Amino acid sequence: MFSARAKVCGIIANPVEHSMSPILHNILAKDLGLDFIYIPFLVEKNLKMALEGAYELNIYGINVSLPYKQEIIKYIKSIDSAAKIIGAVNTLIRDEKNNSFRGTNTDYLGLEKALIDNDITIKNRDIIILGCGGAAKANIYTCLENNVKSISIFNRSKDRARLTVISLLKAYVRENNFKLDEDIDQYTIYKPSNTIKLNIYSLSDLENKLDDILLFDNYIAFQATNIGMYPNNALIVKNPKFYDKCILGIDLVYTPKITAFMKEFIKRDKKNISGLDMLINQGLIAFEIWNNIKVSDFSRNAAKKEIEKLLF
Ligand code: NAP
Repeated sequence: MFSARAKVCGIIANPVEHSMSPILHNILAKDLGLDFIYIPFLVEKNLKMALEGAYELNIYGINVSLPYKQEIIKYIKSIDSAAKIIGAVNTLIRDEKNNSFRGTNTDYLGLEKALIDNDITIKNRDIIILGCGGAAKANIYTCLENNVKSISIFNRSKDRARLTVISLLKAYVRENNFKLDEDIDQYTIYKPSNTIKLNIYSLSDLENKLDDILLFDNYIAFQATNIGMYPNNALIVKNPKFYDKCILGIDLVYTPKITAFMKEFIKRDKKNISGLDMLINQGLIAFEIWNNIKVSDFSRNAAKKEIEKLLF
C-alpha cells in the first residue's frame, strides 16, 4: 500500500495500455516496502502541457515511451550526455532547480546489463544491428561505449539509417572529443586507444549480397526492428546463411518469449537472448535512480517472473 506521502512516478506514452512498466515498478515497490506508486499516463496530444502538469502534480519521475522519446527533449531543461548523443530520453527525474525534469536514457544501460548478466562480451567483436530506429540508437551507443571492433547496420530504409547514424556519430565524437572519418556509408571513429568501423547497408542486402558483405563467421547479431513482435511472429532475415555466420543472437523484441529470430539460433544450438532482460533492466535502473537504492538480483528476478507470466 502507498500513503498520501508516496513518491509518485509513471509512464507517458500513446498507447500506454500494453506497457509492462506499471507492473514492474509496483511489484518492486511492494517487495521492497517503499511508499511509491507508478501510474500509466496516456498522453494523446499535448506533450508539453502533460509535462508541465506532471511537474505541478509533484510527480518525481517519468518514463517516456513511444512516440515521445525524442520530442520530450524539446521540453526539458537538462539532459545527460548519453541521452543527448542517442537523441532519445526514456527517463525523467524531477529537477527542482530548473522547475522541470532532467532527461536520461536507461535503454542503453539496460541492454548493457543484459549482456553482462548473460556473460556476453562485445568488446573487440564484429557486430550486426538489424534496424536503425530508436532501439537501435541505444544499441549503437552501447556498442560504441563497449569498444566493439565493427558495427554493420542493416535497415529497410538506407536513407533513414544514414540520417540517424550521422547525427548520432557526430554527437558522439563531439561530446567525447574523438575523431570521425566519413565516406559513403562507411565511418571510422578514432578513440585514443582503439578505432571502431561502422557501415550501413540495406536490409535486403542480406538476402542477395550476403557473401560479399559478411566476410567472417562469428558475428554477434542484434535484432532491433519491430519484426517478430507478437502477434506477428515473422522472421526478419530469411537467408539461412545469415544465421550460420553469427555466433549469437540478441532480439530486442520481448514478446513472444521466443521469437522467430531466436528460433534460428536455437536450431543451430547457438546462444540467444530476448529483449525481456533489457526491458526489465531499463525499468529497474530508472527505479533505482528515483529511489536512490540498489535492487537485489532476488527482487529483480521475482519481478521478471511476474512479467514473464503475462507475455505470450
Ligand atoms: P522504431 O523507432 O519505430 O524503429 C523501427 C525499426 O524497425 C526501423 O529500423 C524500421 O525500419 C524497422 N522496421 C519496421 N517495420 C519493418 C518492416 N516491415 N521490415 C523491415 N524493417 C522494419 O521502433 P523502436 O523503438 O526502435 O523499436 C523496435 C523494436 O525494439 C520494437 O519491437 C520494440 O518493442 C523493441 N524495443 C525493445 C526494448 C527493450 O527494452 N527490450 C526497448 C525499446 C524497443 P525503417 O527505418 O526502414 O522504417
